[in-house]
Amino acid sequence: MTQIRLHNSKTRQKEVFTPLDPENVRMYLCGPTVYNRAHLGNSRNVLMFDVLFRLLRHVYGADHVTYARNFTDVDDKINARAAESGRPISQITEETIGWYHADMDALGALRPTHEPRATAYIAQMVAMIEGLIAKGHAYAAEGHVLFAVDSYDAYGALSGRSVDDMIAGARVEVAPYKKNPMDFVLWKPSSDDLPGWDSPWGRGRPGWHIECSAMTDALFGPSFDIHGGGTDLMFPHHENEVAQSCCAHPEGGFAQVWLHNEMLQVEGKKMSKSLGNFFTIRDLLDQGIPGEVIRFVMLGTHYRKPMDWTDRKRADADATLRKWREMTADVAAGAVSDNVIAALADDLNTAGAMAELFKLASAGEAETLKASAQMLGFLTDELGGWDRVDTGDHGPRIEALLIERAEARKAKDFARADALRDGFAAAGVLVKDTADGATWEAGPNFDPSKLNEL
Ligand code: AMP
Ligand code: ZN
Repeated sequence: MTQIRLHNSKTRQKEVFTPLDPENVRMYLCGPTVYNRAHLGNSRNVLMFDVLFRLLRHVYGADHVTYARNFTDVDDKINARAAESGRPISQITEETIGWYHADMDALGALRPTHEPRATAYIAQMVAMIEGLIAKGHAYAAEGHVLFAVDSYDAYGALSGRSVDDMIAGARVEVAPYKKNPMDFVLWKPSSDDLPGWDSPWGRGRPGWHIECSAMTDALFGPSFDIHGGGTDLMFPHHENEVAQSCCAHPEGGFAQVWLHNEMLQVEGKKMSKSLGNFFTIRDLLDQGIPGEVIRFVMLGTHYRKPMDWTDRKRADADATLRKWREMTADVAAGAVSDNVIAALADDLNTAGAMAELFKLASAGEAETLKASAQMLGFLTDELGGWDRVDTGDHGPRIEALLIERAEARKAKDFARADALRDGFAAAGVLVKDTADGATWEAGPNFDPSKLNEL
């Protein structure tokens, strides 16, 4: 069996990956807060986890991998969006989830096995918070419930900070009801105009971090294999998830392996909604940039390195994919290259795997290229079609010339038949002879003016 090695943020080293249960490999990715179109940076870990999902399915079998990615559908940013637009919250979250699916589908990301919504797990969150209070890890104060960081010795271990460093370095919200300034909110009160649920602490809503702890527990149990998100989530979000889950279930280890992707940048700065320097995936798709091309650019940089989106990379990806699609159009996928799998198994080295694809293309190994590219989610039927040129109203003329070619062959007029064949090639029309007659397709260098000479 292929040995996979992953860089575990928890141990800060590359380790051999050994699933807790090879019959059910479990992976979780912190998903979006749904009030806005996803920006390009948001696609980075979605695509990285998509490749991980495909690799694990390849190694352990498609039925032996469970992938969960949540939708945060209760959040103050959503409340603010509803208040400023005068629209109901549920309309905003439903619309945004629809956009998210459409955008990630367009990039060829497989849908996760589970896409839990935070609002569907409030009861589990309340139960977990009650458990934390009972064990002395949390306390209620003024309608809030706070996690007591002093109660958990390993607090800070994931991100490598001490509580004292955090207090010195962080802009922590000092509130009179907090025993330690680093204590974080598990539950907070809601006024009547805000979404709220009844709880032992009054009507309120959850803090952000508790949802991932409650949902992984509900879907996977207290221990599972892989958890990920951007480096920006390591502290405080992931640190707090670990504290909540490990204190609620000391018998479980929560995530065995933590994967963190570096940020997508624009002009050397993190692309983010708060910095206002972002463009959405939909912006790019609307400009006519194919999802497959976006995917190619995004996977061209290893996930642990910062990356820049540039138009040069887009143009190169476009040209490469057109070439590969043309090369593999009439070819059945063969076996996936061992070198491609080896690169992916080496901490998801997508850039290395793509370098192997270039080698296969240069060597003319179309069957292996097709299978290996599909392993990475390229050259699939779902993402295809964009490379085929709009033939306008030249179709009937091409059909007529094909009939003429068939008649020339029947009449043994080989000179005419060959002239037509050469003419199609010059015009960039790819003709395929099948048992049911000839079919045609316009290639990327379609030039209908060449048909006039026939
Ligand atoms: P947010 O947009 O802050 O709700 O983040 C949602 C997910 O996208 C998280 O996993 C973040 O780590 C990730 N993310 C946000 N901005 C970027 C970026 N510029 N590059 C890569 N990942 C990002
Ligand atoms: Zn999370």
